[in-house]
Amino acid sequence: MERSSMERLRQVLESGWIGLGPVTEQFEQELSRPDLIGKYPVALNSGTAALHLALVVADVPQGSTVMVPANTFISTASVALQHHCRVILADIERTTGNIDLNSVRDILATEPDVSAVIAVHYSGIPCDIEALSDIANRHGVTVIEDCAHAIGSQWRGRPMSESPNIQAYSFHATKALAIGEGGCATFPDAVSAERAKRLRRLGIDTRARTWGNPYDIPEIGFKYNMGDIAAAVGLAQIEGLRDKLDKRRSIMCRYRERLADSPVELVRETDPTDRSGGFAMPVLVRNRERVRKELDAAGIESEIYFKPLGTFPLGATRPTPVADRFAQDVICLPVHPLIDLDEIDYICDRLIECMA
Ligand SMILES: *Cc1c(COP(=O)(O)O)cnc(C)c1O
Repeated sequence: MERSSMERLRQVLESGWIGLGPVTEQFEQELSRPDLIGKYPVALNSGTAALHLALVVADVPQGSTVMVPANTFISTASVALQHHCRVILADIERTTGNIDLNSVRDILATEPDVSAVIAVHYSGIPCDIEALSDIANRHGVTVIEDCAHAIGSQWRGRPMSESPNIQAYSFHATKALAIGEGGCATFPDAVSAERAKRLRRLGIDTRARTWGNPYDIPEIGFKYNMGDIAAAVGLAQIEGLRDKLDKRRSIMCRYRERLADSPVELVRETDPTDRSGGFAMPVLVRNRERVRKELDAAGIESEIYFKPLGTFPLGATRPTPVADRFAQDVICLPVHPLIDLDEIDYICDRLIECMA
């Protein structure tokens, strides 16, 4: 942990106040920079909480249907069940790993109950937010963005914060801005953010506080708030973030350079003005199991993001053949700010050998 985390933690611990308070507010202030997370950020205790709160604050009707891509972490779908909705899985594009707009169109044409779609910027590769929002608007469907991988990403040369949709970020230990546990939802307007700030702490509203009345609860909420201990770590993480993101980006570029014209299929942005923040480096290979074993024997760790959601008991029934195939072929190669570029070359050489 950086020294600055220690100092900031000490300050909070010695301040006599360790709950939701001024440090969380300062963290939100920093996050609201448009080049970071932007809009009106509300700090929470997880990215999953952020997705759930997004559905609530967007007034997605309970009992309706929520569409999510099959290639994502379980949270993206489980929050819809938690909101008493039905989940429907959209298929993905093999090139980007993101939700396939043709699948979205097909579903909207045949499923009248869809009220929201949660799009995921897979591995940091931005979805086509504008095209998706156009289709959704035509059907009166709300778009929510799962930005768990999207810190440092850019869509058409612009920061992700320029999207008008509610966005959900995660600060889990594995993410680019890592607190351990934490997340935040961002809202396009102050009124929604204020409502989210009440709902994150059980719905408690102290605006009409008097000597006789400590608080009101106009709407029942959740226990989703961040506290000042986590926010102190978050503030320290922001300090080193730009350098870490630059490093992730250069690692990703090196992989792409080295693996171009090899049998390894890259998963990447299709528009030259889009930019992945480099959360992960997914590639597609044949004989994935053998390749992973051989990489492991060469001292190279790899991950699988993700098992397709159709394999879990979500009650979702639509087939997603592209996502299922993608999930059999995908390997995520190491991306970490502490790896140097020589090591990336080593990984690429071993990977190309495995494919021969
Ligand atoms: C990590 C992740 C989440 C959930 O974040 P938590 O902070 O662990 O709750 C949601 N969606 C995706 C795509 C993720 O990778």
